Amino acid sequence: MIDLHCHSTYSDGVLTPLQLIAMAVGNGVTTLSLTDHDTVDGVAEMKLLGTQNDINVVSGVELSVSWKKYELHFLGLDFDYQHPAIVSALKVQTELRQLRAQKMTEALDYLKVDDLYQKAHALTKGGNITRPHIAKVLVDEGIVKTIADAFKYYLKRGKPGFVGTEWLTVKQAVTAIKQSGGIAVIAHPLQYQLTATKMNELLTLFKECGGQGMEVVSGLMPKNQIQQMNALCDKYNLYASTGSDFHAKSRFGSELGRQPQLATAKQGVWQLFNKPLNSSQVRL
Ligand code: AMP
Ligand code: MN
Ligand code: MN
Ligand code: MN
Repeated sequence: MIDLHCHSTYSDGVLTPLQLIAMAVGNGVTTLSLTDHDTVDGVAEMKLLGTQNDINVVSGVELSVSWKKYELHFLGLDFDYQHPAIVSALKVQTELRQLRAQKMTEALDYLKVDDLYQKAHALTKGGNITRPHIAKVLVDEGIVKTIADAFKYYLKRGKPGFVGTEWLTVKQAVTAIKQSGGIAVIAHPLQYQLTATKMNELLTLFKECGGQGMEVVSGLMPKNQIQQMNALCDKYNLYASTGSDFHAKSRFGSELGRQPQLATAKQGVWQLFNKPLNSSQVRL
């Protein structure tokens, strides 16, 4: 199984790289990428664990991107994670995340949660701060019952705790990934609720900027959506990617490597990797 999208405690995942690798081994994952939100802090550790456990680990990141009124996610895969182009872009994004979290918690002052920012920050254990960290505090403090409710009532766009942020532009994100020697991939294209026109506009721009891939399979996607993504992928001559987007064990998400199969005939993003995969690493 190939899994090119997952999260660790370096962003909003609940497992450490060590715990993730154990799950990857257990689930027969052969090629893995850790794609934490706007950070590569877990990549070196993951690569070392990959070597020790006979799993091919390629460097990864999930970049936040602003485009029109949307916040998009682009994956960077198989790049030099120490390259100045990606390092400097991630420094800015991390600062934006801290600033945003401060503003969000200030906007939620009226909920009278003592030290909301400090509590959310403490949950990050040194990783990048994300909305799920703030959501978790709202659950722990009894403001809402679930993380989903925290988003629904407080954290999503249009709600009191949402703070719009100027993340990287499409061009900047793709360029940082490409200059670092990697492949830019649009993550979960169906999660942005784009109209067909907007989707076409985005994919055209993405291609113009040098983007090369899109996630055809993301987590537990239904068959009809996979078919829809396959068609778009063909239309724009993009390479297909597949990932669980694993964050934590839950009833809703896919475990590492347990996302539905990508058709073997598809042009896979791994065909663009610097080091060609052998047949056992390419199992879908
Ligand atoms: P951020 O990048 O800080 O804006 O946080 C985005 C992350 O929040 C996503 O990667 C998801 O893991 C999580 N998320 C987004 N929307 C929801 C939601 N409605 N319910 C639960 N988690 C969500
Ligand atoms: Mn996430
Ligand atoms: Mn995402
Ligand atoms: Mn993700």
